[in-house]
Amino acid sequence: MVDQAIEIPNYPKEFVKEKIVPEAYQWCLTNGLTMYPAKDFCSNSNIAAPVTLYPTAIPKSCFEEAVSLQRGFNEVYAKIAQDSADNWLTTELSEFAKADPDFTGKLWELYLKAKEEGITQKLRLGIFRNDFLIDEKLQQIKQVEFNTVSVSFAGLSTKVGELHKFLNDSGKYAPDGSRYYTGEMPVSESATAFARSMANALEKYSGKNPIILFVVQENERNVFDQRTLEYNLFKNHGIRVVRLTISQIATHTTMSNDKTKKLYLKSTGEEIGLVYFRAGYTPNDYKTEQDWKNRLQLEVCQAIKAPDLLTQLSGSKKIQQLLANEDILTKFCPEKSERYNLMNSFVKIYPLDDTPLGKLGKELALKKPESYVLKPQREGGGNNIYKEDIPGFISNLSKKDMEAYILMELIEPKSNANVLLRGSEILKEGCINELGVYGSILFDDEKIYSNENCGSLLRSKFTSSNEGGVAAGYGFLDSYVLY
Ligand code: ADP
Ligand code: MG
Repeated sequence: MVDQAIEIPNYPKEFVKEKIVPEAYQWCLTNGLTMYPAKDFCSNSNIAAPVTLYPTAIPKSCFEEAVSLQRGFNEVYAKIAQDSADNWLTTELSEFAKADPDFTGKLWELYLKAKEEGITQKLRLGIFRNDFLIDEKLQQIKQVEFNTVSVSFAGLSTKVGELHKFLNDSGKYAPDGSRYYTGEMPVSESATAFARSMANALEKYSGKNPIILFVVQENERNVFDQRTLEYNLFKNHGIRVVRLTISQIATHTTMSNDKTKKLYLKSTGEEIGLVYFRAGYTPNDYKTEQDWKNRLQLEVCQAIKAPDLLTQLSGSKKIQQLLANEDILTKFCPEKSERYNLMNSFVKIYPLDDTPLGKLGKELALKKPESYVLKPQREGGGNNIYKEDIPGFISNLSKKDMEAYILMELIEPKSNANVLLRGSEILKEGCINELGVYGSILFDDEKIYSNENCGSLLRSKFTSSNEGGVAAGYGFLDSYVLY
């Protein structure tokens, strides 16, 4: 017997449109569950972020499994970034950089330059998000990707959970004012947890009243997500934040000439103790040679980086593909039962190179494309090639260019109905749901100082669309009711 609602409510359209939707919009606008609009930017007017009207029912076992893996994954990626196991990461990157010279290659070169100049800060902060889909047949979480740079929505995830909880607990979902969902609706702690991780990292920085630099993109729509972290840093920890784009680093900061390479904000003379990147993960963020130099300066300076270049690069899709091989994972996760759990969350991933696995990958890409997605080494959505588009796409690639891609088995999640709110649109659609689990880890070359779970995120998108970036305009912020 199902004693709790796992389907969305089915009340008349007018009730939804005239009662619940205005409640949801006003909650969003009151509480900053917002974004800047895609068109007609004006700094003083924001709109409700794209959200689902209802939470999505997710099996509790899957949710708990995903959360339970996070600290293990944090540690694996920290160890990779430490370049442990006989310099495994740098050996792989030196090869792989050649396959993607435009971006991975450039970041890799920058790391080599930084090393030559001398990287003064040994501490590094990983702010991660592990993304999963729930395979419908297996009823199991399967990893989509592990993000090690600029993970978004930690701020808004908390808010969308609060929105749904408010609508449910205050009886707005039902005409009779009753609570519609009786199951557990956990609210993500990510908005405060990431602020706390940054504050804890900053405590280890030796300097006078250090501040945090958020490196951001120009014309960022998702500012309010970032500001939520900033305001929590100030409110809960008394830490000031300054926001600069990569190109402003040269003009707005200065680095001391001595071997300490301390970084200061020019306008106030304040010392920057932590650099948190919400930019720098796509080639578009580096418009000029100066921008690359600016990133180099950040890498060598005394401030702790979240993330440093090696941690960012360890999140490459190529590294994900290699880790799906148990022999390689064993280097970073020697403990058998833990490794088993991590391995269980992987689907098959193939390179497209001349190794035996790569040859199999090429064959599958041509013969069975309907079961795969092809991914280049890019972040931020909109880059993947799906199913039937794969054979035509790779037939136009040179052998060398093909090596920059990975071929990943498609995960087949269940479609859940929801009502999606975007601008003035109210859409009732079948959706697939991507669960993200946040984690943070503070480490240097030898040691891990803290390793934490930091909440989670659910994003939903039309079953008919292949991509799921909320800021990119394809997805909707969601939360969960566990059953
Ligand atoms: P990005 O770095 O652009 O976010 P992702 O690897 O997260 O790249 O892929 C983007 C989207 O494509 C995901 O959010 C998911 O919706 C879809 N996707 C990626 N990999 C798979 C997969 N193996 N099975 C099903 N969908 C996938
Ligand atoms: Mg993604």
